[in-house]
Amino acid sequence: MKSPGSPPAVPAMAAVLDAIRDRVTVSRVELVGATGLTAATITNTVRRLMSVGYVREVGTLQSGAGSPRRLIRLEPDACYTVGIQFDRFTSTAVIVDLAGDVVERSTMPGAALRHPDSVVASLGHHIEELLSSAAVPRSKVLGVGVTTHGPQDRDAGVLLTSNPSIDWLGYPLAASLSDLIDLPVLIENDATAAAVGEEGLGSSGSSFATVYMSGGIGSGVVLNGQPYRGASSNGVELGHISVDAFGPRCTCGNTGCIENLAGPTVIVEKARNTGLRSRLRLGQGTLVDFKAIGRAAMAGDPDARALIEGSAAVLAVGVATLVNLFDVARVVFTGDAFTDVGPIYRRHAQDAVDKGAFMRAVHPVRVEQSRQMSDAAAIGGAVLVLRSLLGAGESAMRTARGAERLSLPAAVP
Ligand SMILES: [Zn+2]
Repeated sequence: MKSPGSPPAVPAMAAVLDAIRDRVTVSRVELVGATGLTAATITNTVRRLMSVGYVREVGTLQSGAGSPRRLIRLEPDACYTVGIQFDRFTSTAVIVDLAGDVVERSTMPGAALRHPDSVVASLGHHIEELLSSAAVPRSKVLGVGVTTHGPQDRDAGVLLTSNPSIDWLGYPLAASLSDLIDLPVLIENDATAAAVGEEGLGSSGSSFATVYMSGGIGSGVVLNGQPYRGASSNGVELGHISVDAFGPRCTCGNTGCIENLAGPTVIVEKARNTGLRSRLRLGQGTLVDFKAIGRAAMAGDPDARALIEGSAAVLAVGVATLVNLFDVARVVFTGDAFTDVGPIYRRHAQDAVDKGAFMRAVHPVRVEQSRQMSDAAAIGGAVLVLRSLLGAGESAMRTARGAERLSLPAAVP
């Protein structure tokens, strides 16, 4: 039990910030009720948050015969975090404020087959440009969350994959970028980040799964508001669930992986062997081509439609498995590969869980499309920086450099 004079625990800050964010303006008494923290902890936490400028008092509210309650609200522009999603084909960057709102976003080409040093240099340049265009001072930026494919050693900030090239295997992504831009950097699996981005900075504590498709296929699961991580933060690899023991061998070592039967790369390869190649002028890059096929499918092209419907049917088998494993009642499709074709994939998945989810007699399972299809993973990266900083159920953010900077600003005496 802490004495009234002891400093508030960092998770208390996360809880108080969430409660203030959810309510726009709120009194200290209401914060006690909303968080379950003691009045003394609320007083200390609010004092610290006010001293660093994250919240401020905005008037009073007369309630009953007692003295008026002072109201508190968030200062959204008190600090910012940056989120970047990148893979071989595409990259998206966002700046998110303390309210969890995106204040700036941009896209750039993916990693392709460039050396990691070159990619990191581009990311650093891109971050500087983004901050400049948003007129966000660097002094207010707490850190950068980079989300990409796995496997990865999240704690070390290192990728453990030779995809898209051998140069990435063991590459110190977080430390390299942190050295370049002189800000703390964390890395995260893109599908997990997309799930976090879907929930945002609120404190809903909900449980759901995301199906993420960009260059590859992944999934993220959030249970009671916290991302499920498994033993090494490399869990829920939906794209590498086998649906065919005799299917093609995958680079992961498995056979018949969903990604190799239904992912953008294989769909584009198949399309290039049909009349779609010339009709859609394919050959502009996997994700660009996949989106062109998707638009053609939505417009009724029979060849494109057959490819997309086939892919959606395979992925739907994986979605039913995902639901059976985690007993979630909601599945959200997100990732820029779903931008045009989301309705087809959603329909197949809904049909699969309606017919095949083991618990369907107990509760329905709803399949939805994200409202931030292209940005969820980048937003999740930005959100995770703040959650990590505040200790909101996340492990500490570590980088080779910058770890010492990873603290909230010191309180003003
Ligand atoms: Zn695989």
